[in-house]
Amino acid sequence: MTQAFVSSRVVTPEGVRPAAVVVEEGRIQSVRDPGDIPREALQHRFGDLVLLPGLVDSHVHINEPGRTEWEGFATATRAAAAGGYTTLVDMPLNCLPETTTVAALEAKRHAAAGQCRVDWAPWGGLTGQNAGHLAPLAEAGVAGFKCFLINPGIEGFAMIEKHELEAALPALARTGLPLLVHAELAEHLYPGNDTDDWTQYTTYLRSRPDEAELAAIRMLIDLCRKHSFPLHIVHLSTALALQELADARNEGLPITVETCPHYLHFFAEEIPAGGTLYKCAPPVRSRENREALWQGLRDGVIDLIATDHSPCPPSMKQGDFRQAWGGIASLSVAISVVWTDMRERNLSLEHLARWMSAQPAKLAGLNDRKGAIAVGYDADLVVFDPDAEFTLRAEDLQYRHLVSPYLGETLHGKVQATFVRGAAVYDQGSFPESPIGREQIRIKVCC
Ligand SMILES: [Zn+2]
Repeated sequence: MTQAFVSSRVVTPEGVRPAAVVVEEGRIQSVRDPGDIPREALQHRFGDLVLLPGLVDSHVHINEPGRTEWEGFATATRAAAAGGYTTLVDMPLNCLPETTTVAALEAKRHAAAGQCRVDWAPWGGLTGQNAGHLAPLAEAGVAGFKCFLINPGIEGFAMIEKHELEAALPALARTGLPLLVHAELAEHLYPGNDTDDWTQYTTYLRSRPDEAELAAIRMLIDLCRKHSFPLHIVHLSTALALQELADARNEGLPITVETCPHYLHFFAEEIPAGGTLYKCAPPVRSRENREALWQGLRDGVIDLIATDHSPCPPSMKQGDFRQAWGGIASLSVAISVVWTDMRERNLSLEHLARWMSAQPAKLAGLNDRKGAIAVGYDADLVVFDPDAEFTLRAEDLQYRHLVSPYLGETLHGKVQATFVRGAAVYDQGSFPESPIGREQIRIKVCC
């Protein structure tokens, strides 16, 4: 079947323009003048609504198998479809078993089968104990590896010590795959004591200072220089690291950087006492830091925005800032949150497509088919109304547990419909009966 998706504002790698996106068998066959649509094509006309490339989220904790009561493929991909995401890349924790062996990867594939409303790909895990599994996992199709320089605070996934990381880096480098790192060092954390008031956000913020991130990033830049592997810094929170990251990239080191919607939207000064829904690690920092992160995106030092969607049962978000689970879920609302802040800063739809689609697709090695409205790419499309204004309600969230620090906010920009490989997976609040998402295996980089 031939289809034509027509809009006066199609966001292509060359800019925004009126176009008809002609699709055959789920793939983009041409992007042409709207007056030149093949006669046999089934037409979808969107007027002045924007047609964006499907968003790619390179940082999601789907938590299945093993902690499906926290999230799961069915609910995460439903929220993704509603939020304009057409591909999710799943972190190797907080599922059980963690994705650190090929057997665990196969268990994940089995769990995902038939449940996904959007496409997905797996990251593998690197811990202190599994360096021997890197090559088999790469061969089995993971998009890259994730490790923690600090205890991730969850049973089932171990941090990696510096000497273990150094020992594993030659094997990692041989795979050619990126290493994604949670960059905080424990020696710079302030563990606190019982006389501290842990209901206050300032207490939590003080416990995870900028220096913990900075020291980790300095160490990683050195290791990258020494072992020459693609390094990706996940969820950068401190803007103090931007200059050193820019210098390292100017030196030619293969480093990429992500930040998250919550670091670009919230700031510490407004987080209320007891506001544990805002807890994440590294923490949301000052208002000034937030503005510097936006500048990092403008300057291209930060490549992409990923959600770090990390849900848990609501009971785990209770208590004070020491007890509560650190993680913010945002798959269904990230596009609106980010666009709301972009509008205020006069940033463009092209920026949005670059930061939330093209660059994350490239990181995961899916950029031969995902991340652009261009010939030969999958027809992953989002119909987006950039001028819509709405107040976020719990029922908009779509993921398993309807809790969010964004509830009640007035946001701009709403997803009207989402298409994966030419098929609607979300249409104004409703979802088709059968899930059509498939695993995507990255472009081979080596061997
Ligand atoms: Zn994460």
